[in-house]
Amino acid sequence: MSNPPVYRRILLKLSGEALMGSQSSGIDASVLQRLAVEIDEICKIGVQVGLVIGGGNIVRGATKAAEGLDRVTSDHMGMLATVINALAMQDALEQVGRPTRVMSALKINQVCEDYIRRRAVRHLEKGRAVIFAAGTGNPFFTTDSAASLRAIEVDADLLIKATKVDGVYSADPKKDPDASFYSRMTFDQALDQRLDVMDATALVLCRDHAMQLRVMNIFEAGAIMRLVQGEDIGTLLQNGNPEA
Ligand code: UDP
Repeated sequence: MSNPPVYRRILLKLSGEALMGSQSSGIDASVLQRLAVEIDEICKIGVQVGLVIGGGNIVRGATKAAEGLDRVTSDHMGMLATVINALAMQDALEQVGRPTRVMSALKINQVCEDYIRRRAVRHLEKGRAVIFAAGTGNPFFTTDSAASLRAIEVDADLLIKATKVDGVYSADPKKDPDASFYSRMTFDQALDQRLDVMDATALVLCRDHAMQLRVMNIFEAGAIMRLVQGEDIGTLLQNGNPEA
């Protein structure tokens, strides 16, 4: 018997790059499949799962703008890239038997549903995975901000930001061997120290609405299951005393 979950509803943020695996762009089907299996397993023990997936493996607005494209058009392209990733993840989840809905912040309803908060909550209550696509629907934002926003809107117990490292460090641990690991910190510490956690808009939203954030490596097999069963994994960001 698996331990009961300590979270009722989570919002998991995956970057587009997470879907690339070892490729230089696009989507690695084996990575999608592995993530889908792990997400389905936590749904099976009763955790309601919302997902926000970035688009950086396909188009990142700021990069296109630097190449000379109009910034707003570039961001529209970036948001559409997140829809492509969401559809791929939906397919992977349904292949492992998990009913899934994609809900887009931009109207594209021959492809997926529009984002309607009450409907999203209903899907979650029914055990469907819900993928929130097209970011916030606005240019100049990121999918990190979309993840904070949706987590708050659907009243998730926890926002999880998936990274390639184990959590938040004082510097990039891949470049600096002396980088120290933080198991706890406040949003203000992350903002003041400009640590590479999430963008400032996303952190401020979490801080102002007391949304707990866990930064962790979900690409370590089984880590997300251990987390939802109460293990202290990665870095926990919250308000107040970081040691509490
Ligand atoms: N984007 C946007 N508004 C949003 C979310 C995303 O305009 O609310 C665009 C933006 O151009 C961004 C791209 O979509 O660069 C892909 O999202 P992001 O860079 O957050 O993806 P990730 O880095 O997580 O893969």
